[in-house]
Amino acid sequence: AFDESGKIWFNGELVDWKEANIHALSHVVHYGSSVFEGIRCYNTKKGPAVFRLKEHVQRLYNSAKIYRMEIPYSQEDFCQAILDTIKINQLDACYIRPAIFRGYAELGVYPLNCPVESIIAVWAWGKYLGEEALENGVDVGVSTWRRMAPNTMPNMAKAGSNYMNSQLAKMEAVSNNYDEAIMLDYQGMVSEGSGENIFIVKDGVLHTPPRASSLLDGITRNSVITLARDMDLEVKEEEIPREMLYVADELFLTGTAAEISPIRSVDRITVGNGKRGEITKKLQDDFFAILEGNAEDKYGWLTFV
Ligand code: PMP
Repeated sequence: AFDESGKIWFNGELVDWKEANIHALSHVVHYGSSVFEGIRCYNTKKGPAVFRLKEHVQRLYNSAKIYRMEIPYSQEDFCQAILDTIKINQLDACYIRPAIFRGYAELGVYPLNCPVESIIAVWAWGKYLGEEALENGVDVGVSTWRRMAPNTMPNMAKAGSNYMNSQLAKMEAVSNNYDEAIMLDYQGMVSEGSGENIFIVKDGVLHTPPRASSLLDGITRNSVITLARDMDLEVKEEEIPREMLYVADELFLTGTAAEISPIRSVDRITVGNGKRGEITKKLQDDFFAILEGNAEDKYGWLTFV
């Protein structure tokens, strides 16, 4: 939940929560011109640590580059600003939301005369898909909404406007009593959730849709692939037809918010035996051992606050 007595980093300064405002005629309000990140800080045994900070900031700068937004800070300074924002708000475990957007100057589609503004906000945030989800899994439905086709909206950019697509899929899913939507790509192959990547376990092999297609290149996805290869699990990044979802042995979602969440049904068809699978559990155990500080941070994923 938001703590309105906290501070928000706003264009290079830490300001009072209630002072972090923009004008109603800012470009972003009308044309969706923003890019952002979602990052988590974990309360490890050795103190609060941000998970894969550099990779998230790199992705933010890549998203900005795609949209020709110049961020007036080095990536190093931006990482430091994130750490400063956590510190001043005295949070240990929290969610971190940096955003870069086009501000107030003039209105019209052409964005380059509007200033590029930046914010970093942090707040305490629990489990995205509910406390139970990590163990019991979630119910998902295949959406009638597709992910954006190549060369329409860049899927690789984490742009605010891409989440209009995610919102359509999520609203449809919730109205059908699902926890989450799975979208197909423009060719009808499995793509991802509204805010998560997807993995399938079939005959002891881990499958996930390829990166260079319709997905956001998830940092949790990348982490899971690393952990899987390290436990000698074969990982295949290749196209997955919809029906593979129904016959999978295990299915799970990955994302900063959702972490590693098992899927227990797709379109009301039970996945496997309806319980969290063994491989899903193993990957969760390895993942959380690092985040809790119970295992060595051998991939250098943690930045202490
Ligand atoms: N896909 C979409 C559409 C997302 O919004 C997210 C969350 N950022 C992900 C995948 C997962 O990415 P990550 O693991 O980097 O959070």
